[in-house]
Amino acid sequence: MDYEMLKEKMIKQQILARGVNNKKVLDAMRNIPRHEFVREKDKEYAYDDCAMPIGEGQTISQPYIVAYMSEFLMPDNDLKVLEIGTGSGYQTAILALLFKEVYTIERIEILQDRAKKVLKNFNLDNIYFRTGDGTSGWQEKAPFDRIIITGALQEIPEILKEQINKESGVIVAPVGGRLIQKMQRIIYKDNKEMVEEGIGCVFVPIIGKYGFKE
Ligand code: SAH
Repeated sequence: MDYEMLKEKMIKQQILARGVNNKKVLDAMRNIPRHEFVREKDKEYAYDDCAMPIGEGQTISQPYIVAYMSEFLMPDNDLKVLEIGTGSGYQTAILALLFKEVYTIERIEILQDRAKKVLKNFNLDNIYFRTGDGTSGWQEKAPFDRIIITGALQEIPEILKEQINKESGVIVAPVGGRLIQKMQRIIYKDNKEMVEEGIGCVFVPIIGKYGFKE
């Protein structure tokens, strides 16, 4: 399989063509081999234009969605980001190239362990893992400059908002129902919050104390 060729095609046809053109995001996606994050039998489809199952009823997000969220998050390499929903670890790897420090929480231990193992191969030394319910955030490491939630929520929990940098923080999450959502971005500036709506999307639910019920 010519993964390099498939990756370049993915970037051109799925990401650039749909308007994501942040150079740092595109470079990060060029540098992370997506086929390492899917199941062995799915490797040849890793650069296809869709989400894919990763086991435990969860999915690796569609490449375009990863690019879109990364750009929407307004990345900067001197900032600290919290990710909720490690899943395959693919988005985590992209974040690690875009940010100074990445704190990532996953509810399902098997997935977190698998992601850790894959991510070890990339010499990324700025990722910190935690297994558990991310809907309460990671209080000990707050405040975060950015929070990205890679699963659906009915609303962004107050407890997460309390952990964002209120001067200049940004939160990005798919917000809506269990089946379909709209990307939401909250931008903080000098203690004021501004809510924006992005594209429609379909994510697996975030399940937890301040998320959906099992
Ligand atoms: N960014 C990941 C997306 C995985 S899907 C990827 O592209 O691979 C969303 C993930 O959120 C799933 O792995 C799911 O197990 C996890 N999740 C669900 N509820 C959670 C919670 N309360 N805290 C942390 N992770 C959660």
